[in-house]
Amino acid sequence: MTDVFALLKNAGFAEGFLLPVAPYTNWTRHRNDGVFHPNTAPLADDPRELYPWANAVLICVYPYTPYDDETLVASYYPASNRAYHAMKRLLAALNENGVRAERAETPYREQLASYGIGSRMDNQLLFLEPYGTYFNVQGAMLALPEPVAYTPRREPKEICDHCGLCQEVCFGAIKGDYAFDWTRCVHSYLEGDPIPQDAMEWMSELLGCMCCQTVCPKNPKETIPIPDEVKSVLDPVAILSGNRREAEKLVGKNLAAPKRLLRQAIVLAANRGRTDALPYLSKLRETESERFGAELDYAISLLQKA
Ligand code: SF4
Ligand code: SF4
Repeated sequence: MTDVFALLKNAGFAEGFLLPVAPYTNWTRHRNDGVFHPNTAPLADDPRELYPWANAVLICVYPYTPYDDETLVASYYPASNRAYHAMKRLLAALNENGVRAERAETPYREQLASYGIGSRMDNQLLFLEPYGTYFNVQGAMLALPEPVAYTPRREPKEICDHCGLCQEVCFGAIKGDYAFDWTRCVHSYLEGDPIPQDAMEWMSELLGCMCCQTVCPKNPKETIPIPDEVKSVLDPVAILSGNRREAEKLVGKNLAAPKRLLRQAIVLAANRGRTDALPYLSKLRETESERFGAELDYAISLLQKA
């Protein structure tokens, strides 16, 4: 039988879990209660309807180490792009080995936690030894020769002690005792059209804040230097100057889409007092005022006062 675990390591993942295909019962209940972002709406409540041919869910773990300076962008984002490509390699290898496999969006936190793999935290993330909450997850549905029966490999543990530190630094989403309000998570604001004024004022980095992870005393303390390439490519003024292709290579097409990256670079350039952005902002006002009017008004007026 194909060694799925050897293939996933070969593709670049640290580890993976093969689980039976089952309805996402608790997760669906939480979603119906409005706990999650609306972009979870297309996810099937019961994957057996969407993937009737599959008999296993494969959840692969791609850990990353935070940068020593995450004030520009968190290392999570380039890592999530690398994880996406690792899954592409893995799917190709599985298919070459005669295993039907398709990428699938799965509520992995719910699935892993319900099998005692990892622990839920107040910041809504999953804690998994030895990575803490510093990992990206990619999921796939598989048709294996034999159905899987998962035997827990780890003891579930209570890790979060509800110290409240993540709640203190949060924009307003973390409510303590595992309660969460996605409408106050800056990730949903930064995808707004336009970004609301208070979120623009709060914004201090690209693509989303990770402060609820960095502040968590349970997470590993190790960091790596932020690569020069990340600093130069994701510099807000470099983005405004039109280096989209380079940004795409680092964080992927989805995150580098102008509605996200360019919109945020306009705001971040202003919040960092980057007056060298003004010529680009004026140019954008001529061509993109319909799309980014609110952000351009905010940035230009802030920088003109600088
Ligand atoms: S910072 Fe404290 S409350 Fe928040 S997730 Fe970590 S341990 Fe839990
Ligand atoms: S990502 Fe930011 S806004 Fe969202 S929960 Fe974490 S600290 Fe709060």
